[in-house]
Amino acid sequence: MRELLLLLKRFFGYTSFRPLQAEIIQRILQKEDSLVLMPTGGGKSICFQLPAIYLPGTAVVVSPLIALMKDQVEGLIANGIPAATLNSMMPEEERHRVRQLCIQGKVKLLYISPEGIMSELHWLLPRIDISLIAIDEAHCISHWGHDFRPEYTQLSVLKDNFPKVPLIALTATADKITRTDIINQLKLRDPQTFISSFDRPNLSLTIRRGLSKKEKIAAIVHFINKHHRQSGIIYCMSRNGTESLVEELSEYSIQAVAYHAGLSPMQREKAQDDFINDRVNVVCATVAFGMGIDKSNVRWVIHYNMPGSIENYYQEIGRAGRDGMKSDTLLFYSVSDILLLRRFAEESGQKDVSLQKLNRMRRYCEADICRRRILLSYFGEETDKDCGNCDVCKNPPQRFDGSVLVQKALSGIFRTGQTANMHLLIDILRGAEKEELTEKGYDKLKTYGVGKDLSYKEWKEYLYQMLQLGYIEIDYMSAGHLKVTPLGRKILFGEQQALLTVYQKTKDFALPTRKGGYKYRPIRPLQSASVEDTLLDSLQQLRKQISEREHIP
Ligand code: ADP
Ligand code: MG
Repeated sequence: MRELLLLLKRFFGYTSFRPLQAEIIQRILQKEDSLVLMPTGGGKSICFQLPAIYLPGTAVVVSPLIALMKDQVEGLIANGIPAATLNSMMPEEERHRVRQLCIQGKVKLLYISPEGIMSELHWLLPRIDISLIAIDEAHCISHWGHDFRPEYTQLSVLKDNFPKVPLIALTATADKITRTDIINQLKLRDPQTFISSFDRPNLSLTIRRGLSKKEKIAAIVHFINKHHRQSGIIYCMSRNGTESLVEELSEYSIQAVAYHAGLSPMQREKAQDDFINDRVNVVCATVAFGMGIDKSNVRWVIHYNMPGSIENYYQEIGRAGRDGMKSDTLLFYSVSDILLLRRFAEESGQKDVSLQKLNRMRRYCEADICRRRILLSYFGEETDKDCGNCDVCKNPPQRFDGSVLVQKALSGIFRTGQTANMHLLIDILRGAEKEELTEKGYDKLKTYGVGKDLSYKEWKEYLYQMLQLGYIEIDYMSAGHLKVTPLGRKILFGEQQALLTVYQKTKDFALPTRKGGYKYRPIRPLQSASVEDTLLDSLQQLRKQISEREHIP
């Protein structure tokens, strides 16, 4: 142990181990297998780098990205540790040189891609004295993980070929099913699983729902300006989404770059480089952005759309605040996001698991208990304390008996023969004086104007709650007509009480004048786009969006 600490100090300049690092290292020294789960930035690398230095021979490290390997090897060499990489981008003579160095025992850590493992399996690997094998980003082996890479599945040959070498699999993101899959596929022998805390108390968590596009933009502009334009990432669902957001933000003098898998490698590298070196502060990106980006001062992450799983979400917000300083995260979601994601999930190869993961994500967004508790328990880390740093803790929900309110809405739905969409229903309830309503005789309905006391936004919020509570449903096949469910009928007939959560008005932000506009041009008030508008819009765009949906490169 003392020796290990000395090595830690000598090669990495640190005076103590972080939680679990020492135990994990001991386990490798005992030639046993392990699975390590630590959040991004938690310090996984040391867990195999230090025993690699300590043990005789060469450690073989599998990593999915050439850029990642390059960074790590350069870092090690800078610390005086002989490390090398073998990858397809290197000229053959250099690869030959590296192979020779390995055979001569002059390399302590050899970083290699999964394809590289396959091509070196029969010639090079048996000729070197392998001290340990580390599989970094091990979730890539699993279909259930969020970044499946087919090349990773071949890694199961490692255990067959080198049964005596200790194997360590490391990842920042794996729920229970992914963990089991990693262990099985890599054929880990009697493995111990190490899970370090996933808690990131420095990240604030906020979720807002049902905002129109314009309201989202206004909130983003406000958010970015509040952060004095420090570095941040906005995740979008589609490639087009990233590009149109870049354009939109430029209207408010916010310079951003797009990043997605449809760009050329050169464009992507430039975007990444500009961001890392603070030449541009905002990246509008798809899921393609992030792995291996080691930028410590990302101050905020926004999800323009809801991610498809809690793993993705946590991984993505985890890119903020890696220096431990306070950072903010904000997620928007809407019925139309859920609709789209459900469609993707249904078309994916793993329909059941994808839907299940989506469902967990949706429930996280809709829950009204401490968000961090939900996240931590998702990763197997239950806690009995509320965090105080999420929107629910800051604004605890208050319940009230909303039976009468719900009854008004439900009878409104019945009186239109269940042919009203949300927008129309709210207009009827509020007794809106609109020609379309009188023309069709809606003003003669008994429910016309019975909900005058509530604003449009309040009704929208309560109808969302009624949807979630299962009192009504939306018929997506018609033009978003609302239907009353059997449970809704019970409320209507007074057989059951409806507990609702008090709508808390969140601040709406007015957009500043667009660049080049007149200084005194009045700012038009934001118009709330109706939920169905968004829904219909999304149905029409569904095909298009599916066809341009982002694939991880
Ligand atoms: P991960 O691979 O888990 O995302 P890294 O291994 O890249 O994380 O480590 C993240 C940062 O934490 C690095 O800058 C690393 O040097 C630092 N670090 C790791 N272990 C320690 C330690 N024991 N003491 C201080 N800093 C550490
Ligand atoms: Mg790492």
